[in-house]
Amino acid sequence: MKYHIQSFGCQMNVYDTKSLMGLLNSAGHEFTDNLDEAEMILLNTCAIREGAEDRVRGRIGQLKRFKDRGVLQYLGVCGCMGQKEGRRLTDSVSFLDLVMGPGAIGNIVSLVDRLQAGERPLIDLSGIDDYFDEIPPVETDEITYPRFVSIMRGCDKRCTYCIVPYTRGGEHSRDPRIILQEAESLVQKGFKEITLIGQTVNSYSYDGVHFANLLEMVNDIPGIERIRFATSHPGSATRDMFDAMAGLDHVCEQLHLPVQAGSNRTLKRMKRGYTREEYLEKIAYFRSLFKDSDIPISVTTDIIVGFPGETEEEFEETLDLMREVRYDAAFMFKFSPRRGTPAAEMPDQVDEVEKSRRLDRLIKLQQEVSKEVNQEFLGKTIEVMIERVSHTLKHGTTYEARMRTGRIVKLDQDSKLDQDSKFDQDSKFDQDSGQHQVGDILNVAVTRCTSYSLYGEPVKEEEIYVA
Ligand code: SF4
Repeated sequence: MKYHIQSFGCQMNVYDTKSLMGLLNSAGHEFTDNLDEAEMILLNTCAIREGAEDRVRGRIGQLKRFKDRGVLQYLGVCGCMGQKEGRRLTDSVSFLDLVMGPGAIGNIVSLVDRLQAGERPLIDLSGIDDYFDEIPPVETDEITYPRFVSIMRGCDKRCTYCIVPYTRGGEHSRDPRIILQEAESLVQKGFKEITLIGQTVNSYSYDGVHFANLLEMVNDIPGIERIRFATSHPGSATRDMFDAMAGLDHVCEQLHLPVQAGSNRTLKRMKRGYTREEYLEKIAYFRSLFKDSDIPISVTTDIIVGFPGETEEEFEETLDLMREVRYDAAFMFKFSPRRGTPAAEMPDQVDEVEKSRRLDRLIKLQQEVSKEVNQEFLGKTIEVMIERVSHTLKHGTTYEARMRTGRIVKLDQDSKLDQDSKFDQDSKFDQDSGQHQVGDILNVAVTRCTSYSLYGEPVKEEEIYVA
């Protein structure tokens, strides 16, 4: 059967989608990008905010016409919204055939067999608390970044606004031998960078192997250049994790540490499990490890505004924390009540207009700080890895690259290499086409910047000047 899967939400869903494809392909089904020929379409969904669910509901509505045309036989909802809504979805959408949660991925082949045998609708919300090792994602030869390797799933924290523990279950860390196998096979395929993922990736623990140990093991894989990880929880951010980030060659100096709020009263109502002071101490420790080096580092975060009961004063504490930390970037959201979470039932819900006003102030402040931080790179030479190469008639060949810190760098249009220039030995510079390949690591001189990106030109070895 020809099938299509559309992935919504986080890295974990991207990884799960590849696992679903691996199982369906191994059972003889064939993935297609052409919706007109898809006999089954699965939506691997997110339930983190109301908006995410609205997008899925909209998509389900759009796909009805494919069912009406007759080629599309089966429409299914997987992932966190599937787990959260379950039978409510099939009760409200008559043309939906399958609803399943993240824990039922291992059952997809038998579920499809039952659909083809005429059983519908099917609902499978099992497995989120069972231990099973991740199903190996479908192998693709195409080198694309980021390339995720799941090291754990689920979450034992209980942040009062978050639906994840209810849709993905408790923490399960994978066997490090299996993680290393998966990472090694990717490096052998030519991947230079791997991103280790988990809901609270730094609370990884398996038979005495903790996160810093695992970083060391992955760092020792021959041929690996860059290791990233997401998403960390401040409560599990230990000094040995930071020491590993500073001490291991291939672990990128990119720390994403979601703070969510700057007020201890708000953090308490969120049940985040740390105080503002404890959080700031961890950031200060991480930065202290690089104070005598000119290695660029980055600190980014997630912030929620308008959490129930958030006063203007508490909001000011969040702004104040952002001014103090000076994040390189931040993912900023309005509080979105999730049915089934304690925060959805809390008194003093903040009204939408006020949430939007606070979010606007937050974004404005962060844009100013990000621009100032990016301006510090003007005229400097930085190392980047090419992540995307695109060819358009209008712009010719353009490159999007990334620093070890995660900062996006766009190679300026007129930065076409003059034919005789030579890069470092790593880069397979194609003299004829002036093309660089995804995965090439090269040095770039920064010429301009915005709040979101740096722009620059590749530099020849002998021209390198590190300020
Ligand atoms: S740490 Fe908190 S926000 Fe993150 S997945 Fe767990 S419960 Fe949700």
